[in-house]
Amino acid sequence: MKEHILKFFNRNIDANAQSLQFEFDCIATILNSLDALVYVSDFKTYELIFVNNYGQKSWGVPLGRKCYQYLQFGQEQPCSFCNNSKLLNEEGKPTGVHIWEFQNTVTQRWYQCRDQAVKWVDGRYVRLEIAVDITENKLAQQKLETMYKEAEALARVDPLTKVYNRRAFYEYMSKRLAHLKHHNHTLSLVMVDVDEFKKVNDLYGHSKGDEALIEIANTIQSEIRESDQLFRIGGEEFVIVLPDCDELNAFNLVERVRLNIGQIALMHNDHPIQLSCSFGITDYWSTSTDDSFDRWGISITESLMAEADKALYSAKLNGRNQAKLFSQLSITE
Ligand code: GH3
Ligand code: MG
Ligand code: MG
Repeated sequence: MKEHILKFFNRNIDANAQSLQFEFDCIATILNSLDALVYVSDFKTYELIFVNNYGQKSWGVPLGRKCYQYLQFGQEQPCSFCNNSKLLNEEGKPTGVHIWEFQNTVTQRWYQCRDQAVKWVDGRYVRLEIAVDITENKLAQQKLETMYKEAEALARVDPLTKVYNRRAFYEYMSKRLAHLKHHNHTLSLVMVDVDEFKKVNDLYGHSKGDEALIEIANTIQSEIRESDQLFRIGGEEFVIVLPDCDELNAFNLVERVRLNIGQIALMHNDHPIQLSCSFGITDYWSTSTDDSFDRWGISITESLMAEADKALYSAKLNGRNQAKLFSQLSITE
């Protein structure tokens, strides 16, 4: 009688054990076939409790190492970016899934990590991470970002002379003037126009004209300070902005630029091409009492452009190849 009962119980125990083993095998098969790292670690000791096959293929056998020793390169203490503390709230309850992206220091690959606190078989909460390799996406995204930045930069550069363009000029001025509004400083604005440039094109061809524009831009660029900015705002028109520079200092610099432009050795069939430019100069003084951002109902940039343009026009009328200060124009000009 006793033997019957024992056999009956043993059979049931065997059946239960087989069923548990079957369930375990199923779960292990799934976890070990996943195309993602799955690991479980202890919140307090950082010991690894489980690492699936995917993890062991990339990071090796855990061999009793802590998660930071196993998953990161040369890491001997918990990682500065460890998010364990975010996975449980103040009452020690799970806060949900935390998703983040990270470039692993061992494999150098990017992973999207999905972390959460889960109740382990022994009742404690443990950290469960599922990390999917997103390197290809990340590289494509980084490439796109770089291309976007390059395109953004190109949109502000003149393709011929490689100096900033008109769009960049207006952006620069609004930033510069906003800065001036809060600081008691000045700036000078110089408008540059190549003299009788149409003749250069007509006599020597459009591509020689292009070369002349490049030479002129390079000459101006080599003469101005690092803090100054050169823009090509139109066909053969440039603007130089000189921060912290009044119109008299601007005039001195422009004279150097003007003389150097006269020295440009651009040749056409062994014949030197004489180049010159005219310049119109104005300056802007911001004072602490000046709280009106606009002058004459138009923006300061537009009014400075109008002033420099008037001075430039006067230089042209006066015979070209010279610089004029707006402040020294007579009322009739
Ligand atoms: P002024 O001394 O009065 O300024 O005379 P100008 O001939 O320079 O002035 P105008 O406005 O009559 O001619 C400007 C010329 O600049 C006409 C245009 O074909 C030429 N131009 C504009 N952009 C470019 C360019 O990118 N390359 C070349 N080669 N020529 C250009
Ligand atoms: Mg012009
Ligand atoms: Mg011109």
